[in-house]
Amino acid sequence: DLITVQELAQRMAMRSTDLIRELMKQGQMVQANATLDADTAQLIVEDLGHSVKRVSESDVEEGLIDKPSADANLVPRPPVVTIMGHVDHGKTSLLDALRQTDVVAGEAGGITQHIGAYQIKGPNGDPITFLDTPGHAAFTAMRARGANVTDIVVIVVAADDGVMPQTIESINHARAAGVPIIVAINKIDKPGVDSTRVKTDLLQHEVQVESMGGEIQDIEVSALKRLNLDGLLEAIQLQAELLELKADDKRQSFGTVVEAKLDKGRGPVTTLLVQEGELQRGDIVVVGAEWGKVRALLNDQGDQVKVAGPSLPVEILGLNGVPEPGDQFAVVAHEARAREVAEYRQRKKREKANAATAGTSLEQMMAQLQDAEIKDLPIVIKGDVQGSVEAIVGALQKMSNSEVRVRILHTGVGAISESDVILAEASQAPVIGFNVRANKQARDEAQRSGTEIRYYSVIYDLIDDIKGTLTGMLDPEL
Ligand code: GDP
Repeated sequence: DLITVQELAQRMAMRSTDLIRELMKQGQMVQANATLDADTAQLIVEDLGHSVKRVSESDVEEGLIDKPSADANLVPRPPVVTIMGHVDHGKTSLLDALRQTDVVAGEAGGITQHIGAYQIKGPNGDPITFLDTPGHAAFTAMRARGANVTDIVVIVVAADDGVMPQTIESINHARAAGVPIIVAINKIDKPGVDSTRVKTDLLQHEVQVESMGGEIQDIEVSALKRLNLDGLLEAIQLQAELLELKADDKRQSFGTVVEAKLDKGRGPVTTLLVQEGELQRGDIVVVGAEWGKVRALLNDQGDQVKVAGPSLPVEILGLNGVPEPGDQFAVVAHEARAREVAEYRQRKKREKANAATAGTSLEQMMAQLQDAEIKDLPIVIKGDVQGSVEAIVGALQKMSNSEVRVRILHTGVGAISESDVILAEASQAPVIGFNVRANKQARDEAQRSGTEIRYYSVIYDLIDDIKGTLTGMLDPEL
């Protein structure tokens, strides 16, 4: 555990310059942003006549989110669905159209608000929750933060445009997360479109849909003309049944932040997706590094509700700050506890920001993999032309053996994009660029998340480096 000089000074309520002077007396020349290990920090603190209370992660985080008890009171819960696909293939149109299939919502006057997620009743009467943040950025950003809230991914492919780069990316994102896919072939109202081409193209990416003899459900729809939307909802409900999704609605509630913003009049407004238990008005919650007492719960119709059970998205008011999408929330017993956890996390966050240089390098990954049972090296590869990408993939696959292997998360032609980095980040993988560079957003994201981007222009150099990494991953006794 490390702490910066600045941070330590703050906690002792002294100025960092005074602490630096103290450290200098002891022969340590440091700056305010230098880090001290726990033992050094303890010595200094005691020298200055303070008492030390080391707070470890396990102390503070302990029991915040209970493990399910053996006699857990499991009840079925609605599926949570994310819609992904190439730009302009109809994700937004489909989300809007599906929402309007809800008769109840329609009758209520159709006044809906965007809170980042909504729930409708499907054809069999059971509810379905949709994350109303189309595109994979939100999905992977949440996953990168350890929040796997999506149960099913619907990949939208426009019949007139076919399988495109972001279609493939979406498939890879869903696969990397281990989430089942349903393919919605959209825009079938357009004259002369041929959905067979979409299906054969998908085969090339190892997506074998049912109508091609495979197991992945494919549904033809038109978001614009509202054709076969029930068919899509039925497919989702069928998939959900197979997953046998359950939650315990009696336990202490926790879940994930979908969206959060600061509203001028209402203060921090946070959309939460409840995963376990029931969140109630008046509950005291810790949400990421923020906390508060739930003053109001609002559903996606803008109506006040008293409780929110599993898979229900609700907007809450009453937090003292704005958390981040992907943050977890948990209900705690009293305010003191909430404040303790939130303050601890704030501190962790600052420390992490200070140690911004740390991240995922091949070397660090090797260290992490030392103990892992299956040794695989996840990688994202971007190249200048399809031919070189294929050559690299072929060579890397040949290097894999029974002990170590390269796991290719995604490949593509063109500059390294922000989405490539986010995908890599979620699996703590490096991004390899062959004769391509990263764009500004990708570089910023890599910098922020500590994701490594490696550039090569000679295939042999690339292969050599990866070979070296794989060799390093082998158990010493092998
Ligand atoms: P997104 O970028 O994936 O969210 O795509 P949008 O939902 O914004 O749709 C892109 C364009 O395709 C818009 O002009 C839509 O009106 C159009 N569009 C979406 N669905 C359909 C459809 O089923 N049929 C036709 N003809 N056009 C559609």
